[in-house]
Parts: sequence; structure tokens; C-alpha cells
Amino acid sequence: MNNLAPKLTSEEYEKNFAEIHPPFTPNSAAAEANRCLYCFDSPCMKACPTHIDISTFIKKIASGNLKGSAKTILSANWIALTCAKACPVEVLCEGACVYNARGEDPIQIGRLQRYVMDWYVERGMPPIFTPAPKNGKSVGIVGAGPAGIACAAELSLMGYGVTVYEAKSEPGGLDTWGIAPYKMKREDSLNEAKMVERLGATIKTGMRVGDNISLDDLIRKHDAIFLGVGLRTPTRLRIPGEELAGVHDALTFIERVTTRKWSSVDVGKRVAVVGAGNTAIDAVTEAKRLGAEQVMIIYRRSSEEMSAYDFEFELAKIDGVTFHFLTTPKRILGTGHVGAIECVRMKLGAMDADGKRSAEPIPNSEFQIPIDMVITAVGQTPEKSFLAQIPNLKMDRGNVWVNPETYQTSSPKFFAGGDCINGGKEVVNAAADGKKAAHGIDNFIMSNE
Ligand code: SF4
Repeated sequence: MNNLAPKLTSEEYEKNFAEIHPPFTPNSAAAEANRCLYCFDSPCMKACPTHIDISTFIKKIASGNLKGSAKTILSANWIALTCAKACPVEVLCEGACVYNARGEDPIQIGRLQRYVMDWYVERGMPPIFTPAPKNGKSVGIVGAGPAGIACAAELSLMGYGVTVYEAKSEPGGLDTWGIAPYKMKREDSLNEAKMVERLGATIKTGMRVGDNISLDDLIRKHDAIFLGVGLRTPTRLRIPGEELAGVHDALTFIERVTTRKWSSVDVGKRVAVVGAGNTAIDAVTEAKRLGAEQVMIIYRRSSEEMSAYDFEFELAKIDGVTFHFLTTPKRILGTGHVGAIECVRMKLGAMDADGKRSAEPIPNSEFQIPIDMVITAVGQTPEKSFLAQIPNLKMDRGNVWVNPETYQTSSPKFFAGGDCINGGKEVVNAAADGKKAAHGIDNFIMSNE
């Protein structure tokens, strides 16, 4: 890279990537738990996609029964530690807490859940569930991300023999490789995978279906297969200059930062991130924390249309991110390496098929921004070459189609959940899908007995 930001000291990296939500102490957790009104008709529980019995787990904290609290949480959500740290609680459980309507701070449900799950992990994750005796049936799971892990745990508990095939060197999917280190540590996600192995599931890493195991083998070996393959193919900008050195996709960049070898990640002095979703915000704030001097977001619509949550937007502003709204890149300029980005101003038009106002270029409004690095964050799609090999697998607007009740795909032996069916939602949605799909698989196998 031409114009690299200087490397920081290890103390500066640690400070920049320190957790933004520190854990509760025992006293502060007890005090917060005692604020809960234990609402009979808990709106917080309804707002959680996994429907954790929040008032019950909080009541157990207040009475000092942390193991019981962990059991309440895990019986609804197998990746509860990740969710406690990475969930957008402001728009889910905490956003629904009755305290908001009174103009008071909501119960800090995420931090309380984290308090319980940290306690459980620190004590070595003692067994709290007893799996049913083995039923002789076998399920293969493709992808050890949140949907796959949740599905594996639930099926293992029901007595199924479960093998998870993960292409990467470690399990966890986005939870391990794609969440900003100031939100959670990848060890949290690896511990959740360990918990699933203790329930009896086998996780085989470095196993890419089509490379070291064939799809036919998978179909032969298992009574059903769950696809938790996520979205791994970044959407390209399709503009000239995208092939220049210094242009990166956001997931690859975030993955390098997540492994915590910060000094080995080169970052430009001036970094532009194209896109305005939560992944774009993660990428731009991480570039800043690595030492970039100028960081900016380029987005073709206005702040009203951006898909990043308000609190992520606020975090980026605090980090000094400049926002170029109503702006889209036209070409990336440079000789071998990025040197500038040419953009065009946009104006909003009529509503498009996504329910957002369309963005149209304003003629002759081109301008250039000097830049040393471009990170693209305009979405991802499922790995189509793999999915295309599955017989009769129907796709719906680029995602795998499933029956919304059973999570069964159009290829009867295959079920699916998580980002590959919804185009990219929250980790907690994937956890909920994996669990529900496990029950769809159980009904399918048992009804074919
Ligand atoms: Fe407690 Fe708020 Fe949930 Fe009521 S809505 S049970 S006060 S966390």
C-alpha cells in the first residue's frame, strides 16, 4: 500500500479495541436484576427472536441461582454469550422493556445475560442438560455458524448423531470471524462450539463440501442435512478500478481484525468504506481503531435510508467518521494502487422494490476524493456454485427458499436457516432458525420411520 497509516503500539491497539460495554460486577448485576418488574406478559421476551424467558433468568440472578439462570437462557438460545454481547438489544429486548414507556432506562438485559454466561463459561461450562439416548439417526450440518451450532445443539439433545462440516479452520462462522473485537472476543464463540461438542455433536473443521467431502457422500451418510452456509460471496461494486491493490471487501478485512493480530493488518491513512449497513460501520470504525487518519462512509442514499442501527451510526460519529450521503462511487483511480475515488452526487427518487427511495445520479456532479484504501460493504450472497449442486433446491430472490414452519427446503432431505434464507439478519435470528429447523428435521425423520 502506498500511503500506510503508521503502526500503533500494542498498548494503543489494546486501548482502541477494548470492550465498549464492560461486564457487571456481582453487586451491580444484583442491583440491576432487582430493578426488573418481572412483568407477567413480558414484552422483552416477545421481542427476542429466540424468546428467552427474560424475567425468569433475571429473577434467578436476583436470587443468586446463576446456574439455573444459565439453564433458562440456554434452553432458548444456544449462542447466548455471543447474543449477549453482539445483539442489537436497543431494538430488541431492551427496546421493548416497559421502563422505556415510563421515560426511564430499560433493564440492561444484554449485560445481565452476559453476566450469567460469563459466569457459566468461567466455571468450565458444567453440564446442565442431559441428551436423550442415541436414536440411531444421523444429521449432517453444513456450516458451523450460529444457525448450524444452534441446530447441532438441539438435535444432539434429542439423541441424534450430528456431524457439522465447517470449511474454515475454526467453528463459529461470523461469531468467530466477523464481529468487531470491541463487541466480543472470538473465544466466546469458540466456547459455544465447545458446548455443542460436549452435547455429543462432532465438528469437523477444514471440511468444504465439494472439496474434501462430496455432496453425494453427505446425502448417503445422513438422514437429513441442514444448510447453515451463511453469505460468503461479497457483492462487487462493478466499477472500473475495483481490481486495484488497496480495494478490499469488508468481511475479509473484519476477519483479519477479529483474529487480533492488529499490527499485521495494514490500513491506509485515508480509508473510504462504500455502504452504510452495520458491516460498513464495523469496517470503518475498525479502520479508525487500527490507526487510519481519515475514515469515511460513502452511501448513495441519505441517512434516513441507511440500514445501520442508530446506535451504530452514533458510534461511528463518535469515532470521527465522515459521512458522504447521496454519493456513489463511479470509478476507483490509481496506478496499480488506489489513489483516489471518483464519486457522483445522487438525488432521491420514487420508492423502489425494496421499499427504499431510489437514488439517481445528478448529471455532471462528479468529484474526486484522494484515498489510500477502499473497503466495499454493499452486501453478500450465498455461495451459489455449491447450492446449485443440490437437486431441486429452489431459490427465492437470491436466498434459499424454506417452508417458514418447518425450515425444509424444496429438496426434501435438506433444511436451511440463518443468513442463507434471509439475506443477512442478526446472529440471534440465525440461532432461532437453527433451533426451529432442528424440530422440523426431527418431525421429518420420525415421520419417515
Ligand atoms: Fe423486566 Fe423490562 Fe422485561 Fe419487564 S419488560 S420483565 S421490567 S426486562
